[in-house]
Amino acid sequence: MSLFKDLGLNDWLADQCTAMGLSKPTPIQLQCVPHILQGDDCIGCAKTGSGKTAAFALPILQKLAEDPYGIFALVLTPTRELAFQIAEQFSVLGKPIGVRVTVITGGLDMMKQGIDLSVKPHIVISTPGRLADHINSCKTFSLKRIKFLVLDEADRLLEDNFGSQLEEIFKVIPTKRQTLLFSATMTDTIQQLQEVSTNKPFFWQQQSSVATVDELTQTYVLMPADLKDAYLIHILQKCTTENNKGSIIIFTSTCKYTQIIGMICHELGFPTVVLHSMIPQKQRLAALAKFKSNQVQILIATDVASRGLDILTVDFIINHNVPNRQKDYVHRVGRTARAGRGGLAITLVTQFDIKLVHAIEEFINTKLTEYKTVEKEVMEILTEVTVARREAEIKLDEQDFGEKKAINKRKQLILEGKDPDKEGKKSRRSKEEKEAKNKKYKERFIGKKKKKQNR
Ligand code: AMP
Repeated sequence: MSLFKDLGLNDWLADQCTAMGLSKPTPIQLQCVPHILQGDDCIGCAKTGSGKTAAFALPILQKLAEDPYGIFALVLTPTRELAFQIAEQFSVLGKPIGVRVTVITGGLDMMKQGIDLSVKPHIVISTPGRLADHINSCKTFSLKRIKFLVLDEADRLLEDNFGSQLEEIFKVIPTKRQTLLFSATMTDTIQQLQEVSTNKPFFWQQQSSVATVDELTQTYVLMPADLKDAYLIHILQKCTTENNKGSIIIFTSTCKYTQIIGMICHELGFPTVVLHSMIPQKQRLAALAKFKSNQVQILIATDVASRGLDILTVDFIINHNVPNRQKDYVHRVGRTARAGRGGLAITLVTQFDIKLVHAIEEFINTKLTEYKTVEKEVMEILTEVTVARREAEIKLDEQDFGEKKAINKRKQLILEGKDPDKEGKKSRRSKEEKEAKNKKYKERFIGKKKKKQNR
C-alpha cells in the first residue's frame, strides 16, 4: 500500500493528511502528486469525489513551504461555493505552515477583498469574473510571480462564458509557471487545455468506461409533464420515509423553479434551503452551511451546486429536470455516492425528455432503472400540490422576482462600466435579429417542404 510519504511529500504534510483522516492516496493523488512535485504541468481527469483538490493542494503546499511568498498560487474555479470548499482544504492541509488563503468571488465586499489581496496571501482562490474585476480596478496586488495556476473544473472554465475574463487574467500572470488542470469530465476541450499549458503536461485520466460510480443507483420515473410537482412531492415522501435522516438535493433548471419548488415543499411540510445565482452570496453560503450540518435535510439548487461540491452525506439526488448536457447529469449525480458510500439518483422524466435520457444513458454507459412510485398516492396529493404551486407563483409575482433579475443584470452592467440602457437595447436587438433569422429560416424550410408536397 502506498502512503502519502511515498509520493515524495514531506512528513508534515503526510501527518496532516493522517490528521484529516486520509489514510492512503487516491489514484489521482498517486499519479499526479509526484509529477507536480517534479515541476510538470498536469492535466488530471477523474470522477467527482476522487480527491482532486488534495491532488493539487498537497504539492503546492510543499513547494510553498520550501520558498514561501505571496501570491504563490492562483486557483480558478467556476463557482463561488467551490472556491470556498477548495480554500478550506488548503487551510486545513497547510495549517502547520500557517498558510494564508484568500477567496475572491463575486457577491462579497470588493473593498475588503482588495485589502485581503494587498497583504499578499499565499494562495488565491477565485472565480474568474471577480478576479478580472480586481485586476482592472486595483493595483494593490500582483500575480506576476505566481508559481502555480490551477484551473479546477477546467472544462467548464474553458467551455462556458469565462473566455474574456480568463484572457484578462492570463495577461497578468507569468508564462513561466506550472499549470494544473483538473476536471471530472473532459471531452473535446482536452485539446484546448493542452494548449493553455506552457509545457507538455503530464496527462492522467481515470480508466473507467462508466462515468458515474458503482455505488450509485441511477433511476428514473416516467410521468406526464403536468403531474411533475405532485410526483416530486410523492418521491420526497418516499425518500424521507425510507431514510428519515437522509439528505436530499433537488436539482432544477432555473432560479425561478428553484424558488417555486422551495415554496411548494415548505407549504407541504418539507423544510428546505435553496441555492441559486439570484441569492446574495452570504445567504448562499449560509444555506449551504445549514444543509451541510444537517440542520435542513433538503437542498434545492440550480446547476450552481452541481460541480464539485463535497457534501459527504448526500443520500438522494432528485433531478427535477433532465439536464440538456450529459456532463451536467454526471456532475449532479456525483453529489451523492461519494468516497465509497452508496447513493440513489432519481431523474424525473416526462414525455418530452426521452431523447435526452437516452443520450445520458449512452454517455454514462449505464441504463437507468425504474424507480417505483404509486400513482394512486400521487393523485391523492395532486390538488394540494397544485394549489401550493399557484400560491407560490402568485407570491413570486408579488415579490417581482423577474424584475429583481433584471435589476441585478443592470447592476452588473453598471459595475462593468457599461450603460445598461444601451446594452439592453443591444441584447433586445440581437434577440430580434435572431428571431428574424429564425423566421427567415423557417419560411425557407417550410417553403421547401410545401414545394415537395406539391410535387
Ligand atoms: P474532491 O475530489 O477534491 O472533491 O474530494 C472529495 C473528498 O474526498 C473530500 O472530502 C476529501 O477530503 C476526500 N479525500 C481526499 N483525498 C482523500 C484520500 N486520500 N482518502 C480519502 N478521502 C480523501
